[in-house]
Amino acid sequence: MPKPVRVIFLGGLGEIGRNCAVIEVDNRLLIIDCGLMFPDMDMPGVDLVLPDFTFLRENADRVEACVLTHGHEDHVGALSFLLRDLKFPLYGSALTLGMARNRIDEAGLINRTSFNPVVDGERRMIGPFDVEFIPVTHSVPHAFAIAIHTPQGVIFHTGDWKLDLTPVDGRTTDIARIGAIASGDGIRLMLGDSTNAEEAGHTISESAIGETLRDQFRDHPEKRVVVTCFASHIHRIQQVMDAAIGHGRTVATLGRSMGKNVALARSMGLLNVPDASVIDIDDVGDLAPEKVCVISTGSQGEPMSALALMAAGENKRIKVGEGDVVIMSSHAIPGNEGPVGKVIDGLHRLGCEVVHSGIAQVHVSGHAKGEELKTLLTLARPEFFIPVHGEFRHLTHHARLAKTLGMSDNHVLLCEDGDVIELHDKGIDFADTVPAGYLYVDGIVGDVGQFVLRDRKVLAEEGVVIVVVTIDSKTGDVVSGPEVITRGWVYAPEAEDLLDEAREAVRVAVSGVASTDADTLRKTARSALGKFVNERTRRRPMIVPIVMEV
Ligand SMILES: [Zn+2]
Ligand SMILES: [Zn+2]
Repeated sequence: MPKPVRVIFLGGLGEIGRNCAVIEVDNRLLIIDCGLMFPDMDMPGVDLVLPDFTFLRENADRVEACVLTHGHEDHVGALSFLLRDLKFPLYGSALTLGMARNRIDEAGLINRTSFNPVVDGERRMIGPFDVEFIPVTHSVPHAFAIAIHTPQGVIFHTGDWKLDLTPVDGRTTDIARIGAIASGDGIRLMLGDSTNAEEAGHTISESAIGETLRDQFRDHPEKRVVVTCFASHIHRIQQVMDAAIGHGRTVATLGRSMGKNVALARSMGLLNVPDASVIDIDDVGDLAPEKVCVISTGSQGEPMSALALMAAGENKRIKVGEGDVVIMSSHAIPGNEGPVGKVIDGLHRLGCEVVHSGIAQVHVSGHAKGEELKTLLTLARPEFFIPVHGEFRHLTHHARLAKTLGMSDNHVLLCEDGDVIELHDKGIDFADTVPAGYLYVDGIVGDVGQFVLRDRKVLAEEGVVIVVVTIDSKTGDVVSGPEVITRGWVYAPEAEDLLDEAREAVRVAVSGVASTDADTLRKTARSALGKFVNERTRRRPMIVPIVMEV
């Protein structure tokens, strides 16, 4: 009897981002994707969020390799952290590996891995794993779905995908192969992208955007055009460049990742643009506005991005104003609506015209919607199905879709980060859980825990009040102080009376305690000050009591 096969979910089930799953066959571990997540508003000071890698670290010697579905940061961005602790080879399309390589290189970890390119439809043995790389269409070229032929049947992971029948590069999702696996060996377990599971209908083809872009250039013949989109969206960039060049413009890129990805894609022949049509951003000023198109990063309103600096009038490379139209060829990722809105507002203040997806069809999603998801499920006919890649509501809706197609309740599993699933001869079970909390990265270290974040939130929202008091260690008498220092509670120079009262409240409380124990006095000072602050201002800043003994 074949041994059970396990699937361990380390991230991406309950959030959009930090996608990471592990397949266990014959005691060996294969990682599928290793992504990061960008922080939201209630994670002050956090740069990135990673999967919790405890399970992988504790089983480091069992890790065979990592296979990558595609080059988006939510799938490859955490490799430069995991590779500090572990050594393993990477498999993926040449473009995906090229994109992953950037961050790994910057972290100085190139020698801790190897880059093994695979081509469309390739099937290869990676240790005990029989892995097939199936082409899918997505918002970055050369994405894969992954089929792992295991002793417990085929595990099919869709990766991020859509069913675009007219993709820009003609590379469609290989539904024929997926159907062939389904009607051959059959698909035992399917893990499916749930991002757009709440949306009905079909996602529009990427090539439809080309038309809208051409219209925009036609409608703004006298203006300089700035287009912003994801730096990894090579097909979008291709369409922008085609539209611009078709209207007699030359193109320049702005932003580091845009420059890097464009160079990478051009070197691989994935982005076709004549050399004569590309100029350096610093030469843009020499040309008439109607002769130029700038393609820029910053579509998510990131504060230091090229576009955000432009909107604030602080971009050293380019100043925008009344002669410019800015096309936002993107959609704000949930959580980024605020910063994106601010950027759009700033551009208007400078006199720019702004075209975003609420005004014209300048963006389409890279993920399948309801009807596409149903089509694939019908084609793949999996015995078991687990929705992945989404917030809990997306996973729930995807599970419902599967059930509307006739899958029974006990064949559709709603899993979350940390769940371990076992596939065995008789079926499928929840077998275990592993640590899967958020790992917050600030700077280069990933040790910003829940407590640090909680403190930051209090400091950000309420400020801090520090009280310093010195006592005689023998008598317990107050020798000096209390001193009250504050930031973010009240503005001290204008609140002297209030601070005097606060000092008095602490002095009375501390003097009234018949104890010389520093800990007791600290608690007394804290509670007296906390009570005073709350009663007088109805605020709850962080209270830090410091008791010194002489
Ligand atoms: Zn993606
Ligand atoms: Zn993704």
